[in-house]
Amino acid sequence: MALRSAPASSTTSRPVILVVGGGYVGLYTALRLQKKLSRGRAEIVVVDPQPHMTYQPFLPEAAAGSVEPRHVVVPLRRTLPRCRVITGAVIGLTHADKKARITPVEGADFELSYDVLVMAAGSVARTLPIPGLAENGIGFKTVGEAIYLRNHVLARLDAASSTDDPDVRRRALTFTFVGGGYAGIEAFAELEDMARYAITRYYPRLSPADMRWVLVEATGRILPEVDLDMSAWTVKQLTARGMDVRLNTRLESVSADGVVKLSDGEEFSSETLVWTAGTKPNPMLSETDLPRDERGRVPCEATLHIRGVDDAWAAGDLAAVPDLTADQSGVTTAPNAQHAVRQAKQLADNIAAVLSGQEPVPYRHKYVGSVASLGLYKGVAQVYGVKLKGFPAWFMHRAYHVSRVPTFNRKARVVADWTMAMLFRREVISLGQLQDPRREFVFAANTGQPGHLPPSRPQQPETADDQAAAGQAG
Ligand SMILES: Cc1cc2nc3c(=O)[nH]c(=O)nc-3n(C[C@H](O)[C@H](O)[C@H](O)COP(=O)(O)OP(=O)(O)OC[C@H]3O[C@@H](n4cnc5c(N)ncnc54)[C@H](O)[C@@H]3O)c2cc1C
Repeated sequence: MALRSAPASSTTSRPVILVVGGGYVGLYTALRLQKKLSRGRAEIVVVDPQPHMTYQPFLPEAAAGSVEPRHVVVPLRRTLPRCRVITGAVIGLTHADKKARITPVEGADFELSYDVLVMAAGSVARTLPIPGLAENGIGFKTVGEAIYLRNHVLARLDAASSTDDPDVRRRALTFTFVGGGYAGIEAFAELEDMARYAITRYYPRLSPADMRWVLVEATGRILPEVDLDMSAWTVKQLTARGMDVRLNTRLESVSADGVVKLSDGEEFSSETLVWTAGTKPNPMLSETDLPRDERGRVPCEATLHIRGVDDAWAAGDLAAVPDLTADQSGVTTAPNAQHAVRQAKQLADNIAAVLSGQEPVPYRHKYVGSVASLGLYKGVAQVYGVKLKGFPAWFMHRAYHVSRVPTFNRKARVVADWTMAMLFRREVISLGQLQDPRREFVFAANTGQPGHLPPSRPQQPETADDQAAAGQAG
C-alpha cells in the first residue's frame, strides 16, 4: 500500500533530525538539541507512541504508592516546546531513502522524510515461549503496568479479606514474580512492603503471614549489578521478611486458572504473575535497513554514530556502544539509565558538532554502581565501590533519583509526594474501577438498573491505548 508522504517541515530546507522514541535517550537528546541548535538550524521531530517520557526507576515507588504515577512521567510537549512531537509509532524506516513509516495514534499511516536519524526506541520485555505466560503474565516497564499492579495487589487484599474460603484467599494472596534484576527486585520488594503496610493497618481479618511472595530466578543470584555479597545480603533480607526467593529455578507454565508450575517441581495457585526477566532491543529494528548485531542491537562507534551508516546515530538499550573504560576490547555498555542519559547528551553534542563541521567526541563513562530500593526505609547500594545497606542505601536511592528525574517540576512534585506520604501515611486504596471504567454504565444502559456492581477483578491492560488510558487516570 502506498503511504501518504508528509514532509517533516512545511517551511524551509533546514535539516530535519528525526528522533525515534521519547524515552531517556530521546528526551535528553531532543532537550539538548533544542538548546544547542538555534531555531533556524534544524527541525527536531520526536516520535513516540506515548505523549510522555517515563522515568522507569520510579515505577516501583509509583506501584507502591510512594509517588503519584503522573509525577514519574515527563510530558514531551511541555518539555520540548521547540520540537515537533508526533504521538505515534515508527513502524519501520528505509535509511537509504531517509524515509520513516509512522502509525499515528489515529488516522492513516504516513511517511516522513528526514536528514539525520537518532534511533532511541529502547527495549521491550524479553519473554520465553512458556505455556500460559503471554495470556496470564504482565510486565513491569510502563506506568500503566505500575498502576495496574498497584490496583491489582490492593484489590487482592480486598478479595482475600472479604471471603472465608481458604483456597480463594490463598490464591489471591500469592504473588509471583519472575526475574531478579533491579527492576524485578524493586517491584517485588516495594509491592510486598505496601501490601504488608496495608494489611497491618487496614485489614484486621488478614495477617502479613497470610501472604506468599515468590521470586523465581533462573540463575544462582539476584541483582547482577552489585557484588555477590550484596546480592546474598539482599536475598537474606527478603527471606527474613517471609518472602520466598527461589534461585536456579525457572517458570515452567501457568494455567488459565492461575496454577503456576516451577522447574523445582513445586505447583501453586497465584492470581499475580509479573515477568521482569530481562529485555531485548526493540523488535521494530527488523523493519529497518539499519545494521544489527547477533543480539539484535544497533552496532555503534564510540561516537554513537551507527557503524557504517551516514547521518544515523543511536544510544540506550537498543545500541551496542563500545565501553572505552573496559579492560578488554569488545565490551559494550550495559543497558541502563546511567549510560542512556549520558549517551544522549554526548549524542546531541556530536550531532551539533557535525552540523558545524567539527569532529564528534567518543562516549566514555565508567559505570559507577547501582542503587535499589527494597521498600520504605530499606535498600541496597554499591556506588564507587562503597557498599551501603538498609536506610543509608534507601536514602541514597531517593537522593540519586530525585536529582536525576528530568525537569524541576517533576523533582518538586516527587519530593512533595514523599513529604505528604510521611505526614499523612501513604495511600493504599485500590481504584480497581480504573481497569474497567465503563462496566457500571454499560450494565445500567443494558438493563435499566442502577449499576451497583462490586468492583470487577481488574483486567490486565491489553493494548497501548488501554495502558495510556490507565496512565492518565493515575
Ligand atoms: C522498572 C524499571 C526500573 C529501572 N531502574 C533503573 C535504575 O534504577 N537504574 C538504571 O540505571 N536503570 C534502570 N532501569 C533501566 C532504564 O530505565 C533503561 O535502561 C532506560 O530507560 C533506557 O533508555 P532508552 O531511551 O534506551 O529506552 P526507554 O527509556 O525505554 O525509551 C524508549 C522509548 O521509545 C518509545 N518507543 C518504543 N517503540 C517505538 C516506536 N516503534 N516508535 C517510536 N517510539 C517507540 C517508547 O515508548 C519509549 O518512550 C529501569 C528499568 C525499569 C523497567
